[in-house]
Amino acid sequence: MLYIAEPENLGDLLPEEPSYRTDQLKNWLYKHPVLSADEMTNLPTALRDTIGPQLWPFELAQEQVGDGGSTRKWLFLCTDGAQIETVLMGYANRTTLCISSQVGCAMGCTFCATGQFGFDRHLSAGEIVAQVAYANAYLASTPIPRSPARVTNVVFMGMGEPLANYKHTRESIRRMIETMGMSARSITVSTVGFVPGMRKLIEEPWQVNLAVSLHSTIPSERTKLVPINDRYPIDQVVATAKDYFEAKGRRVSLEWTLIAGENDSDEEAVGLAAIARGIHAHVNVIALNPTPLSTDRPPDRDHVRRFIATLTREGANVTLRDTRGQDIDAACGQLRLRAASS
Ligand code: SAH
Ligand code: SF4
Repeated sequence: MLYIAEPENLGDLLPEEPSYRTDQLKNWLYKHPVLSADEMTNLPTALRDTIGPQLWPFELAQEQVGDGGSTRKWLFLCTDGAQIETVLMGYANRTTLCISSQVGCAMGCTFCATGQFGFDRHLSAGEIVAQVAYANAYLASTPIPRSPARVTNVVFMGMGEPLANYKHTRESIRRMIETMGMSARSITVSTVGFVPGMRKLIEEPWQVNLAVSLHSTIPSERTKLVPINDRYPIDQVVATAKDYFEAKGRRVSLEWTLIAGENDSDEEAVGLAAIARGIHAHVNVIALNPTPLSTDRPPDRDHVRRFIATLTREGANVTLRDTRGQDIDAACGQLRLRAASS
């Protein structure tokens, strides 16, 4: 499979071809990706026929279009039957792709559809990077109106905990930067607070953005929502986020999925604002997208406003994230859940 191979080793897959063919192919895979090998116009037809079946490590199983055409959600089917979710979101000045790093997730966060499903396997670097290539190939022929016709931002906020799949996450980031030409600052790794992975990321040469999913400042409550808090407690997570900020000079964002009656109190808002101030972080609040396997619900709109107002009053820098793609099950893991139950 072409995307599975390291870009530097593509030549091994084409032993009979001159080296400039490898460069041409690399260009088609990473710089100007195309949906089908037939579009690789400078390659001989026989070679296109060989490449065709090896082009994608998955096939598109399902596409949903939401938000009046500006959000697309794809369910890809891998050769072993594993399913990957990817969401493309067009905005006025950026086109953001939300990618998966694992099939399922072992972290078991109670409000998350992926967590409810358990862990299946890691994605390879090729499977991660192919999601970006697919989106670019798709956008080249079907751009989202009024949005850049290329992925400008990548967020690891689909299925899985990217830092628990460090080796492949790292390699996929390397390819995005070194081969696709993306800027590290346009890539965001979101973590539940997997401290060893955060530490490794600090050591990397790239200024990628780090988002830390906090969800509660009260240790016992956080453990309830985010069981890995038992192993990597919030204090360690916050201290490591601070180290990240100091090492990279990039503001960390703190993610907070607001759940009625769980983490929406004034006490939580005050605690969160104090943490954000202490590490110069930005807070992203998102109202829970309900999942079929949990009775958790988002707070009503007034309550969300009150939570945001408290954060602001306490000096936090905060954004209420839009719930893009709610009409198409775009929250983490939900499309796969729907596909599995239908
Ligand atoms: N494992 C990583 C990245 C994937 S989850 C992490 O947890 O950060 C990406 C984001 O989606 C996280 O902030 C997570 O808390 C949030 N999320 C998961 N399920 C959600 C739901 N049902 N509603 C709203 N946000 C959700
Ligand atoms: Fe895994 Fe993130 Fe979902 Fe938690 S929120 S179960 S870490 S994908």
